Amino acid sequence: MDWCGLAAARPAHWVPDAHALCCFACGTSFGALIRRHHCRCCGAVFCHACSSRSTSLHGWGLEQSVRVCEECYSFEVSQLPVLLAGDLFWRTARWTGTRSGRYLRLSADQSAIIWTTWRDDSGAETSAERTLPLSNLRFVSVAQDGRRIELHKDGGEMLSFEAEAAQTAAWAAALARLVAILKQRHSYERLYGGRIESFSPRSKAILAPRIRLCLERRQQQLVSSNQAKLLAAMNPN
Ligand SMILES: [Zn+2]
Ligand SMILES: [Zn+2]
Repeated sequence: MDWCGLAAARPAHWVPDAHALCCFACGTSFGALIRRHHCRCCGAVFCHACSSRSTSLHGWGLEQSVRVCEECYSFEVSQLPVLLAGDLFWRTARWTGTRSGRYLRLSADQSAIIWTTWRDDSGAETSAERTLPLSNLRFVSVAQDGRRIELHKDGGEMLSFEAEAAQTAAWAAALARLVAILKQRHSYERLYGGRIESFSPRSKAILAPRIRLCLERRQQQLVSSNQAKLLAAMNPN
């Protein structure tokens, strides 16, 4: 396979074999019988049992099914589709206390969080999108009431969006995992690949227009089916 134009070169975010003495998940020591395997998503090193799943990683430009660790597998297969489909959250204006809907989603190339105003009769507005690039998202937390997801930006500013506790928890966990993968890849790239770029958003890895188109189509389907569900619940007739 040709990684970044360097045939047979180790991808920059892979932990070198010499730095991995045991499996990053279960701690089993590597040796003649227990081989090392790299998760193509996060770049960490695992035994076969802890990395036996495979999935395509379109967001990283990998169309074919590749080896991933358990955590990355469940992110790609169950958490990522939730973020791409988007969902309805509420924001409360600080001075007036007015509540208004926001449709929140992850961008198709998985590089930013996007939100638009929600209309109960027509769904998400298509104009006036606001975006938060993941490179500016420092960490994600959940407010004490369990209903508000808090997005902490570089520089200290915080955005909060409210929903049912289960939805908030699912989004917080999925976004935290996404940020963790990005940070882990970035730190491995710096440590082992000599890269000093501040962040490597997924969009950079998606070079082929075909993959980009496929990502956009996938998101359109997820978003429109979820919006149709929400609108049907709000407008029963
Ligand atoms: Zn293991
Ligand atoms: Zn992984």
